[in-house]
Amino acid sequence: MSDSGGFDSHPHVALIPSAGMGHLTPFLRLAASLVQHHCRVTLITTYPTVSLAETQHVSHFLSAYPQVTEKRFHLLPFDPNSANATDPFFLRWEAIRRSAHLLAPLLSPPLSALITDVTLISAVLPVTINLHLPNYVLFTASARMFSLTASFPAIVASKSTSSGSVEFDDDFIEIPGLPPIPLSSVPPAVMDSKSLFATSFLENGNSFVKSNGVLINSFDALEADTLVALNGRRVVAGLPPVYAVGPLLPCEFEKRDDPSTSLILKWLDDQPEGSVVYVSFGSRLALSMEQTKELGNGLLSSGCRFLWVVKGKTVDKEDEESLKNVLGHELMEKIKDQGLVVKNWVDQDKVLSHRAVGGFVSHGGWNSLVEAARHGVPVLVWPQFGDQKINAEAVESAGLGMWVRSWGWGTELRAKGDEIGLKIKDLMANDFLREQAKRIEEEARKAIGVGGSSERTFKELIDKWKCNN
Ligand code: UDP
Ligand code: UDP
Repeated sequence: MSDSGGFDSHPHVALIPSAGMGHLTPFLRLAASLVQHHCRVTLITTYPTVSLAETQHVSHFLSAYPQVTEKRFHLLPFDPNSANATDPFFLRWEAIRRSAHLLAPLLSPPLSALITDVTLISAVLPVTINLHLPNYVLFTASARMFSLTASFPAIVASKSTSSGSVEFDDDFIEIPGLPPIPLSSVPPAVMDSKSLFATSFLENGNSFVKSNGVLINSFDALEADTLVALNGRRVVAGLPPVYAVGPLLPCEFEKRDDPSTSLILKWLDDQPEGSVVYVSFGSRLALSMEQTKELGNGLLSSGCRFLWVVKGKTVDKEDEESLKNVLGHELMEKIKDQGLVVKNWVDQDKVLSHRAVGGFVSHGGWNSLVEAARHGVPVLVWPQFGDQKINAEAVESAGLGMWVRSWGWGTELRAKGDEIGLKIKDLMANDFLREQAKRIEEEARKAIGVGGSSERTFKELIDKWKCNN
């Protein structure tokens, strides 16, 4: 007999991430937290992964957590030309979605719950409903972005014309309980109604009401009002509970101990406290040549020391060009006295926690922003695509960061070197932001501490799952 009056006291939870480090990272951090909370965990994986970073990450995770069961999901053959998309990560999401009806055999022995990536939920729900298995979503961006995603189907329905097109007559989208969202902040791919991204975004958005709950890597000091609006059921009628499990913590298995990490840490050790701006655009974004040049000039004109992570291609396996080729000889020569530039995976958690780092220029990927919050590092967000403007709005209203609306999306090439330099200078000299960031860091510490909001939320979820055993 177990200690919960007849129920097994250790829920068994399976997780199914989709593709991309921005999705895999929070999934594996969540899986590690569930293990620490004494859950049995099954991880559903698909191979080959799109990026090398993903394969390495899963492999390090499984070595660190031998108690986790890996179940490999073999996908049906998928013709990328059959989907209206070119992004390799979106294509993988679609490949998994099209095979989702074959998942049932992997969902045994009887589980307490399945946690599904947001990009897969509409395809996975029919399977779990059939199995009477509770299905929770892990939403990998901000609560603000979740509010838009969940509201979007109704918004589109209300704006559809008799000819079938969608016409937005206002510059803002009104969502109950939230400040209006500028139309210019909505992910461009969503506005292209025929794109693969837009169709699955709508299907997934429609499915949340049928799921059992939504987990978000956020916490009160970042998004209190939005979380209150969501859980007060003001945003969309019928939404299930939203569980703010953040900040999800980086784990030991993610740590890098290679020559490049040593070089970076040694260089940071030699810099004065709070003097370095860290520049990274995440795991899958390669800036155009023009943007790279403007950013390089901006960093130089800011007069600040910098650690800049450069990417040449969307997918790391294809990124073989040398740093010199990507930056060009002239820029390389100019920057070497003022900063360190690298072109490989960096241990971002170690960098953000270093005392020399005083600011972060980021594309606005949600994981990066939450990591900055946890380390109290103020952010200048330069949104490039997707959810990044909405995430930027969230960190701006929390007091963690700033962003420049007139720079537009990355492809619009409106940010010029001089202006980037001025904004970086602003970021590094901004005492108000620094104080706010420290306050948020302190709140993050409380959220993950004993009796904090993250621990309470995990407990609530686990108590629920025990009842499903
Ligand atoms: N990351 C890292 N080192 C790198 C690039 C990225 O550790 O060189 C991590 C980063 O810390 C974050 C994740 O990869 O956890 C990227 O997710 P995010 O949501 O910030 O952006 P995305 O890559 O999905 O655009
Ligand atoms: N998203 C969603 N439904 C979908 C696909 C994406 O809600 O069907 C959200 C999800 O939070 C994702 C964000 O939209 O992180 C933006 O996706 P993006 O194009 O930026 O790709 P990512 O950076 O997540 O790989």
